[in-house]
Amino acid sequence: MEENRKGKAVALDEPDENDMTAGVPGAFEALRQSHEDAALARALQAEMDGQESGWVEARTSCPHAWSVCEAAIELPRFDAVCEKCGDQSENWVCLTCKKVYCGRYVNMHMLEHQEECGHPVVLGFRDLSCWCHLCSSYLDGQLIQEVEPFFNMYHLMKFGSLPIPR
Ligand SMILES: [Zn+2]
Ligand SMILES: [Zn+2]
Ligand SMILES: [Zn+2]
Repeated sequence: MEENRKGKAVALDEPDENDMTAGVPGAFEALRQSHEDAALARALQAEMDGQESGWVEARTSCPHAWSVCEAAIELPRFDAVCEKCGDQSENWVCLTCKKVYCGRYVNMHMLEHQEECGHPVVLGFRDLSCWCHLCSSYLDGQLIQEVEPFFNMYHLMKFGSLPIPR
């Protein structure tokens, strides 16, 4: 009887002891995991916010728009090639210096130009999207005063008409 109880007690103690030792790293693991989850959640949220301001809604103001230069030089046409690699498929024009470089899916020469020269605002020939490298965001070419003349001129060049005013 007593041996039996003792035997039981030992049998009960053993898993308890195991739980105790297993419980400590388990708890740390859970804590670490929850920190990682929180960090991941924050990163995902930041990414979503970025996408939202970028794709869904273009910014209607940009603190870098002053850099857009209206000097009366001839604007490059849509068939202008990238100054560095000669590619014609997906080019952007820099609204500061009016040089034409290829996009990020070609050879990233516009990105390179923006980083080298600090010219933030560019306009894409393919769909007239305006992008500010410093805001990391698309800009509303119609609603930002400095960008609008270029948006309008390229709209006229591409579609033969000015954009419908908003
Ligand atoms: Zn290029
Ligand atoms: Zn430039
Ligand atoms: Zn900006």
